[in-house]
Amino acid sequence: MKDKTVYQQVMEILRAFFVAPACLLCKQPSEEIVCRYCLEDTEISTFSAPGENLLEMPSVMSNRMTPDFHALHAIGWHESILAQLVNQLKFGRQHLAAKALAYLFYTFVLNRLSQVEDLPDVFIPVPISTIRLMTRGFNQAQLIAEYLSLYHPINIVQPVTKTRHTKQQSRMQRHERFANMQNAFTLKHNLNAKHICIIDDVLTTGATVNQISELILDRYPSAKISVWCMSVAKFD
Ligand SMILES: [Zn+2]
Repeated sequence: MKDKTVYQQVMEILRAFFVAPACLLCKQPSEEIVCRYCLEDTEISTFSAPGENLLEMPSVMSNRMTPDFHALHAIGWHESILAQLVNQLKFGRQHLAAKALAYLFYTFVLNRLSQVEDLPDVFIPVPISTIRLMTRGFNQAQLIAEYLSLYHPINIVQPVTKTRHTKQQSRMQRHERFANMQNAFTLKHNLNAKHICIIDDVLTTGATVNQISELILDRYPSAKISVWCMSVAKFD
């Protein structure tokens, strides 16, 4: 993907702030970032029971590692508009896609979750390496966390650092992903929270969030760890 010119970036900002608000997906006028028609009509492949703890869903957990965290929530499968939005964000560098994902997460998961259980004390966005931060210009998980915290004021903290640059997971085989993530993170700062929520864009094998969970639980064995991902990749 070619970098955007300064002109394109300025136009994007102007459009975001000064032009009548429109749906990011169908571009029709809409107060919400994803309009109600898209919410109703477009196929968002949500799970059968959105808002439920996905660790209890065999269709989600089969073929994935045994999780060290305690709860998993996501909007739906990594396909159709969810995959489109995640790709727009990560590879097209469209910051507004993070806003749309947070809105969908709120609509399908957070809204319901907040009525039935206590929400996390802090968000930890999955960190990316300095090299990736420099090339991409932003951390997509951080952006998603920022937009999510607009719906529920949850502090964003970053006690975890990525100690080495790992290869892009999306280009790797399943067994390679586990090896790739081994000792990729360290816990640099103390955490003052009982319920910690790790934020990521897509859950693939779960190797990344599992390694961060292990690090936290090593130091804080009684902590509760939730993982909120926007989408979950399907394994054949
Ligand atoms: Zn729309």
